Amino acid sequence: MVESDVVIVGAGIVGLATAIAAVRDGKRVTICDRHRLPAGASIRNFGMVWPIGQPKGPLFDLAMRSRAIWLDLADQVGFFCEASGSMHVAYRDDEFNVLREFVSSEGESRRAQLLTPQEVRGHTPGVHADGLIGGMYSPLELNVESRTAIAKVWDWIGSQAGIRMLTGFEIARVAPHRVESTDGRVLECDRIYLTTGHEGTVHYPASFPPDAFCQCKLQMMRTIPQPGGWKMGTHVAGGWTLRHYGAFADCPSLAALRTRISDEQPEFDRHGIHIMLSQHSSGDLIIGDSHVYGDAITPFDDEHTDRLILEHAKKLVNAPSWTIDQRWHGIYLKRTDGRSLLVHEPEKGVTIINAMGGAGMTLSFGVAESVVKDPELALERFGPLVTQSV
Ligand SMILES: Cc1cc2nc3c(=O)[nH]c(=O)nc-3n(C[C@H](O)[C@H](O)[C@H](O)COP(=O)(O)OP(=O)(O)OC[C@H]3O[C@@H](n4cnc5c(N)ncnc54)[C@H](O)[C@@H]3O)c2cc1C
Repeated sequence: MVESDVVIVGAGIVGLATAIAAVRDGKRVTICDRHRLPAGASIRNFGMVWPIGQPKGPLFDLAMRSRAIWLDLADQVGFFCEASGSMHVAYRDDEFNVLREFVSSEGESRRAQLLTPQEVRGHTPGVHADGLIGGMYSPLELNVESRTAIAKVWDWIGSQAGIRMLTGFEIARVAPHRVESTDGRVLECDRIYLTTGHEGTVHYPASFPPDAFCQCKLQMMRTIPQPGGWKMGTHVAGGWTLRHYGAFADCPSLAALRTRISDEQPEFDRHGIHIMLSQHSSGDLIIGDSHVYGDAITPFDDEHTDRLILEHAKKLVNAPSWTIDQRWHGIYLKRTDGRSLLVHEPEKGVTIINAMGGAGMTLSFGVAESVVKDPELALERFGPLVTQSV
């Protein structure tokens, strides 16, 4: 007997977003995860919903749709999700040049503004005034406390009509209309969504050719709650971040910024370090991150990398405490062809949604909604470059 219209394998942000979109589309949904509590990339991130990083066009639009769904869901479920906005700070002329070019070409459509040092500190009192040349404020970014938010969504989903959540349910085999767990339980349905994150390439390996996808490991830290109610103000991103997000790719000064960073700080380049900070509801700062790719990934975290991240974070933000309470790493899957995610149908009735790289919190809700509502368009936009037979 078919118990659900839809089975979703993997309850990270991509799977949860797909479950919510499918239920809103009138489907009976079962979502399962191998873990009993959330453990994947979706609870290891900064919780930055980051439209400012997405290039204009469909990706920015999907990020903005995700933003609206996050705000709505936070209201319904009751988790920390603040319209904090973001501040890109410039302590070097080349950083400010990129921000100026970006604001002059896209600032208006994104409501982003170029600011003087005084204005920067008006929005973001936590940044250092010394040497600050200026910054770019964007009001669109959200601050989601991912580790509590995802856990609350897991609980909430289990109580919603039309959705069933199965934890401790590890999928061993997938075939059209049928998934089977490692302990022999079987779920039947009309459509399967595989949203299994970076470890989820095992079921349809031909959909993930090794030269077209790679894993990326990021090291992160969290401070103790800042004393005295100290507030940073907005998310903060340093100049090196401009190299990481597609939104800035067309800024003519980006090449000079890249060259200067690799000349001056090859070590930061080697570890893929760029500095971002968010502050969660209890006052703790989340600080990151580094980027190590593919075969260079080891299970071991590198203390030297953490020291470099902290050293530079302290140059941007004047937090009263840098006492580190937690360290961890997360891994995501990304495409190597420059595209932002994968939506693929390896067999009829089975849809893979994966490889959102560093933008899963930003894109998932918008992407999931578009996959559920208009699968043909999503497959066309985000499918593999070369059609594969599997
Ligand atoms: C350190 C770090 C910082 C980041 N910061 C941000 C940020 O600030 N903003 C942003 O937009 N993005 C950010 N990202 C990216 C974002 O976190 C990811 O894109 C997103 O979490 C990926 O979601 P997912 O659901 O695909 O994966 P996951 O969250 O890993 O979920 C996959 C789930 O599938 C389950 N699963 C796997 N295999 C099976 C199986 N066989 N059977 C059952 N279940 C299975 C796993 O248990 C897991 O729960 C960051 C990522 C990292 C690592």
